[in-house]
Amino acid sequence: MPPERSAEPRPVAVVTGGGTGLGRAIAVRLAEDGYDLVLASRSEAHLAEGRATVERAGARVTTVPTDVRDPAAVEALFLDVEREHGRLDLLVNNAAGNFIQPAESISPNGWRAVVGIVLDGTFFCSRAAFPRLVRTGGGSIVNLVASYAWMAGPGTAHSAAAKAGVLALTRTLAVEWADAGIRVNAVAPGPVRTEGTDRQLWLSEELVDAIRSEIPMGRFGTPGEIAEAVAFLASPKAAYITGQVLAVDGGQWLGRGVMRLRGLSTPRAEPRG
Ligand code: NAP
Repeated sequence: MPPERSAEPRPVAVVTGGGTGLGRAIAVRLAEDGYDLVLASRSEAHLAEGRATVERAGARVTTVPTDVRDPAAVEALFLDVEREHGRLDLLVNNAAGNFIQPAESISPNGWRAVVGIVLDGTFFCSRAAFPRLVRTGGGSIVNLVASYAWMAGPGTAHSAAAKAGVLALTRTLAVEWADAGIRVNAVAPGPVRTEGTDRQLWLSEELVDAIRSEIPMGRFGTPGEIAEAVAFLASPKAAYITGQVLAVDGGQWLGRGVMRLRGLSTPRAEPRG
């Protein structure tokens, strides 16, 4: 009788900030691709909510309360991943903090909070993930950025500076870690309404309408559309893609400035002859 074949181990993904908003949608989408999930953020309540949703998508889910600004907590997170799941295939650096404030009045603490979560957190998690991804035989990292990583982010200087740092880190780690079989890419979502953005950024429906009017496709994105891009970059379909950023924004950043022309009648040349 042939020996019984052991089932293939399920791939394992860590999603920071995976209890809420885009992180939770990404975790659900990855569960549909067969991943088991580790959700990491500060609030036990957010994690419990995320866990219940992602489990419904069929994954084994563990949650680890973690402040990504703290390198010791991040190391403890990845030790937990090894202990509970025995492998790591994918890290999604999604955790973030943000608030609207003119640059000149951002306090040093406010600056440190945003840059600490976004830039330090992404680096600490990537650094801790590296040896575990190597042990798995390679894998991938996907970072959540925003188009103001390469444009301008008036009103959110801390976040723009931090996301620009994350984009530089994406490109640098992609090159440094390519020979370890680790791909590193980024997704830049356009505006997607989440509890976080409604609480911290888009504080009125007037502002929401103004943003919508600047998007060539005329609408906000959905969490599912962002999750789809993350799942693609993590998948074997993207096996030869590394160091890239994929904007999923309905044309928003390309349209900046151009949109001011909307409503003007554009003269067209008369057909010849
Ligand atoms: P969100 O709802 O505000 O979620 C942020 C997540 O980060 C929360 O789950 C939060 O969980 C976690 N977090 C915050 N501080 C943390 C810390 N110190 N340690 C660990 N986790 C922490 O944000 P979102 O709208 O879903 O956005 C997700 C990502 O997409 C972010 O990177 C954001 O910059 C990017 N993005 C979003 C949009 C958009 O329109 N939504 C546009 C462009 C880019 P806890 O409170 O439990 O810690």
